[in-house]
Amino acid sequence: MAGSRADRAAPPLARSTYVVDAHTHIFPPEFSRDRASLIERDAWFGELYGSPKIALAGEAELLASMDAAGVDCSVICGFPWLDQGVCRAHNDYLLDVARRNPGRIAAVTIASPAQPGAAGEAERCLRLGAVGIGELNADGQEFDLSEPQPLAALVEVCQQFDRPILLHISEPVGHLYPGKGTATPEKLQSFLLAYPEVKIVAAHWGGGLLFYELMPEIGALAKNVVYDTAASTFLYEPRIFRAVIDMIGLERILLGTDYALLRQDRFIRRLRKQDVTEAELALVLGQNAARVYGLATEAETHD
Ligand SMILES: [Zn+2]
Repeated sequence: MAGSRADRAAPPLARSTYVVDAHTHIFPPEFSRDRASLIERDAWFGELYGSPKIALAGEAELLASMDAAGVDCSVICGFPWLDQGVCRAHNDYLLDVARRNPGRIAAVTIASPAQPGAAGEAERCLRLGAVGIGELNADGQEFDLSEPQPLAALVEVCQQFDRPILLHISEPVGHLYPGKGTATPEKLQSFLLAYPEVKIVAAHWGGGLLFYELMPEIGALAKNVVYDTAASTFLYEPRIFRAVIDMIGLERILLGTDYALLRQDRFIRRLRKQDVTEAELALVLGQNAARVYGLATEAETHD
């Protein structure tokens, strides 16, 4: 049982284990300075970052956190701004940080999918090296996954570039929390029926969609969906890792912490105390993310 003295110290990671945190958020320094006006302009940002106690981390904090936690590579994801101009400014920062930290940081950039210019912004970023588009958020960006037609142009660009879309999906049940939103699994189902071929990373374990993969038609529908574990320790009991591996296999689970909302070192330590082998961990901790986001592999990085 968790909490005994013996399991508190997880064995050190094998040196060869390549670790990717596939879901982190950092912000440009000017966004920190302009925080008050961004809170006023963007209701979703206000809901998540309205409290001054919630830190807005930047590049230096993330790199220090990665060193402390043994993370080889972090995927920095866009915040779901409603305004396309704010998306663009955030993307310029994310792409710049990724460019300056090859092998260490990769960027998933954001577009406001139901606003004019979404597909153009996504294409601009993918040409500049973004490895995916997201984290799209239906509530923050005022679209509806169950009526996904307005997202067609954006989806098409991602398919052309063969890059995934990262979607914020949350639980239809359980406790409420800032940022939970209403993009629940049955809405994701509608989206997948409309766009069955696009690659999807469903954040936060897909709000539990994966449990329904035990229904054959949902398993078939979700064939191009992988799940990240962002904020898992805040949402679920730790044994979800073992349960999900047994349910959907190893290849479709990406470690993601939701840094800086959660700490990378603590999250990974807790994961490593679960009933999963080093071989299973190797896929979940990094190799799956490398495949899905087309990251440089461990061998390439360390050569
Ligand atoms: Zn999210």
